[in-house]
Amino acid sequence: MLSDLKGKRALILGVANDYSIAWGIAEKFSEVGVELVLTYSHDNLKRRVEELATKVNCTKILKFDAEVTTDYDSLKSDLAKHWNNFDILVHSIAYADKDNLRGDISTTKLEQFNMALNISSYSLMKLVNHLKEMMNEEGSVISLSYIGSILAIENYNVMGVAKAALESINRYLAIELGNKKIRSNCISAGPIKTLSASAISGFRNMLKLVEERAPLHKNVTIEDVGNCATFLASKMSSSITGQVIYVDNGLSIKGISG
Ligand code: NAD
Repeated sequence: MLSDLKGKRALILGVANDYSIAWGIAEKFSEVGVELVLTYSHDNLKRRVEELATKVNCTKILKFDAEVTTDYDSLKSDLAKHWNNFDILVHSIAYADKDNLRGDISTTKLEQFNMALNISSYSLMKLVNHLKEMMNEEGSVISLSYIGSILAIENYNVMGVAKAALESINRYLAIELGNKKIRSNCISAGPIKTLSASAISGFRNMLKLVEERAPLHKNVTIEDVGNCATFLASKMSSSITGQVIYVDNGLSIKGISG
């Protein structure tokens, strides 16, 4: 069913370890025959990403730090040495100071705000701007969001603002890229225990609450997100663009009840 993905090429940003959502996506892509390039953001992650790359037949890993402006050009030129074109861009990166993922949002300093939005939101459009010429028709851009974009979730704070921006950017990119028949969609995942998520105050409790309250009474896995990303990359979703798709065991549709 997903055989159209065999031989397609995906650039995946955001693997830090085998708990990363990007890793769940890389594994699922690799299962259906997608060729991969992975990136790592900082040198201390390089060895781990190198090791993981061997498990998904990925022979190229590249350095990309969204805070380093010159990394956008070097990513493009390094990628062009490996592939002359590619099909799928996965943006699974985000960052905010730990101090901004607890307490009151109004204490966020301008530089912390700018850093969170630069890495977590602006990077999506800047990456597209740099890489879209290399992307093939019928390609797919996939980014990762969280429901803190549209609901106020305690402690998520500045990251909620960043995700609201990301989802908006996703919609505008859908218009821009639609001219090239490239689609852009966000996956809004339910909480998953990853390195980044552990920085959010009260995160463990959130996992417990999801199991209790989500219609399907279970937590989301990186495999669940990988499956949705595979669908969004394939022709099976060829009429879907600019959307935010919830992979959250249904939690987002529930209101408060007594
Ligand atoms: P993770 O820590 O495994 O991945 C985050 C990635 O962001 C890491 O690979 C890290 O290297 C990268 N990153 C951080 N700063 C960067 C920079 N300056 N330049 C480039 N990359 C940088 O955590 P994750 O939970 O897999 O996060 C992936 C995405 O999923 C994020 O956008 C996150 O907001 C989103 N998300 C996570 C959850 C969750 O509960 N884990 C839920 C919904 C959405």
